[in-house]
Amino acid sequence: TALVVAMDGPSGSGKSSASRGVARALGLRYLDTGAMYRAITWWMLEHGVDVGDPQAVAARADAARLAITTDPEAPGVTVDGRDVSAEIRTQEVTSAVSAVSAVPQVRARLVAEQRAIIGDGDIVVEGRDIGSVVAPGAAVKVYLTASPEARARRRTAELTGTTLEAQRVAMARRDTLDSTRKADPLVMAADAIELDTTELNLEEVIAEVLRLVKE
Ligand code: C5P
Repeated sequence: TALVVAMDGPSGSGKSSASRGVARALGLRYLDTGAMYRAITWWMLEHGVDVGDPQAVAARADAARLAITTDPEAPGVTVDGRDVSAEIRTQEVTSAVSAVSAVPQVRARLVAEQRAIIGDGDIVVEGRDIGSVVAPGAAVKVYLTASPEARARRRTAELTGTTLEAQRVAMARRDTLDSTRKADPLVMAADAIELDTTELNLEEVIAEVLRLVKE
């Protein structure tokens, strides 16, 4: 039967690298659901939608046409045919994405698209609500965590022009927004296996997930 591996957790937990590595090792597809929320957010900003106004965001929730690749070697996302893979990683999008992803119409649309992409499976899906909402039947559910220190350190290493302290503050803000919103607050699935990556390198995290898949 076709495999679905759900990889949830906050930013800086090592989710993206680990998810791609697991997909590569097993010859599975890979879906980055955060990139979909980011792409919608990019479109809202590009079209002058006030992301602080949930009704304005809801009214345009279906306006942008998204396409996302599922090749772990070449992740990419387009909006209305334009490749926005780099644009969705900017500070502007990162600061606005929690507000956009808290709007129920946005979530309903993207959860439906994510389920359609998952289809019969053979895929590693990374996000925040995969094991709990998008694919509750996933055979393997991993929830990655790491200490706030380790998460901020990893993000700071990925980005330029930021400091450890600025990252710590920004991540704490995003965590709070993501976990306290009204529509589907981001919580760990009851049957997910928590994997603390604070003391692990990427290869060790991938090996541990592969071990869970083989169980
Ligand atoms: O994983 P990433 O940092 O790219 O996710 C960006 C944002 O998208 C998260 O902070 C969260 O607000 C939202 N998100 C979500 N549900 C998901 C994936 C991401 O709400 N499954």
